[in-house]
Amino acid sequence: MRPFKYTRVDSLKSAIKELNGNAQSRILAGGTNLLDLMKEDVERPEELIDITHLPYSSIRSLSQGAAKPGVLLDALGKNAGTANHPLIRSQYPMLSQAILAGASAQIRNMATNGGNLLQRTRCPYFYDVAMPCNKRTPGSGCGAMEGFNRMHAVFGWSDKCIAVHPSDMAVALAALDAKVLVQNRSGQQRRLTFDEFFRLPGDAPEKDNNLQHGDLITGIELPASNFADHSYYAKVRDRSSYAFALISVAAGFQLNGKQIRDVRIAMGGVAHKPWRALTAEKMLKGKEANEANFKAAAKAEMAAAKPHEYNKFKIELGERAIALALTKALNYGS
Ligand SMILES: Cc1cc2nc3c(=O)[nH]c(=O)nc-3n(C[C@H](O)[C@H](O)[C@H](O)COP(=O)(O)OP(=O)(O)OC[C@H]3O[C@@H](n4cnc5c(N)ncnc54)[C@H](O)[C@@H]3O)c2cc1C
Repeated sequence: MRPFKYTRVDSLKSAIKELNGNAQSRILAGGTNLLDLMKEDVERPEELIDITHLPYSSIRSLSQGAAKPGVLLDALGKNAGTANHPLIRSQYPMLSQAILAGASAQIRNMATNGGNLLQRTRCPYFYDVAMPCNKRTPGSGCGAMEGFNRMHAVFGWSDKCIAVHPSDMAVALAALDAKVLVQNRSGQQRRLTFDEFFRLPGDAPEKDNNLQHGDLITGIELPASNFADHSYYAKVRDRSSYAFALISVAAGFQLNGKQIRDVRIAMGGVAHKPWRALTAEKMLKGKEANEANFKAAAKAEMAAAKPHEYNKFKIELGERAIALALTKALNYGS
């Protein structure tokens, strides 16, 4: 690892000041991704700004007293504490399941909510500094395009990058219509939808999201959810634990009798960002919640997929995973 300066800050103001003072600085939260990338020589920060002493580690109900309040997850809340929090387990079970499907208990104890959204792709060509990668070194090419692209994107990719976003938590948050709270370098706060926050690779795959240097995530806002009774996070992976998703699906719906009143589906392992399955959602709204409709919606969603040499299997896997997640959501709790 290369030498770097370490600075610990104890207020948001000093964090922003330090970040703005050095364009080559990086925020250190749990460090479970950043330090790995530094050891691999992918990330080469001059300075780490340790924000772990900032007062952003709680989880609380928004709009106290409302029949169905939303929830605010502070950015420095740990993944383990978030997954096991009673508010999350009872109101957002798919989020709890998604977090617990990721990494290992030790990593979840260390990893933070903000850091989880900003973890970088696990594309092996990004990690291997001897290989070309437009995400790591813009303009160098994409080793995955003609390489072993089994894990890679089938939606929304560009000729510059076919990497996928690795986070499980972010997939459930996308399905739950979460918003990311960001404090910028001049002290202003923004509230970004997931669509505004994450990016597709396009011509600038080095950017995973629309944050600027000096922006700091302070929290993640969850709106009140109507999906707690029927929701599920399905993760398909090569090993039963400690592995990233080949494909994952966060699915939740609200029923009116047997009819689907409202539905949310998001996928992981298929795109550069958590992918909302809008075609499937549209097909299912107003329909009866049954296996035939789930399968038809899943097929329609995956019909638009554009696979590569080694990931053609993701089309059928995606269809099956969407149908599975919806069926499990229908029978959730029974
Ligand atoms: C072996 C292993 C297996 C894993 N398996 C999975 C898995 O199956 N599923 C999964 O989803 N994840 C998995 N992970 C990834 C893990 O979830 C992430 O490493 C973790 O969530 C990152 O959080 P962190 O707080 O440690 O981030 P850090 O490493 O501290 O930071 C990550 C990035 O975010 C930036 N950052 C952090 N906090 C903020 C903030 N508040 N504002 C602005 N920028 C910030 C940092 O500068 C850095 O660029 C795995 C990790 C490992 C090491």
